[in-house]
Amino acid sequence: MHIPEKTEHTADTGISPTLPTGEKKMEKNRSIECTVNECLHHCKGEDYCSLDRIRVVPREPSPAEERCTDCASYYPDETAKIR
Ligand code: SF4
Repeated sequence: MHIPEKTEHTADTGISPTLPTGEKKMEKNRSIECTVNECLHHCKGEDYCSLDRIRVVPREPSPAEERCTDCASYYPDETAKIR
């Protein structure tokens, strides 16, 4: 099975801006609906992504179903595990 490379999480890849307090600014991107609450980029409480853009990749050479694709911009939200 092909496992796609993860997207680098730098300012150049569309990661959300950081507030002066160090908190991440979570502005929802109305063009990217997402229900993956366990992702660091998810707008908690609203089913949207906060990134400007995401990268979607195939999980296998010839994807035939929805489940055959992945968001490669996903980044685990460690705080989601303790909620
Ligand atoms: S990066 Fe991908 S998985 Fe994470 S919130 Fe955005 S669309 Fe969802």
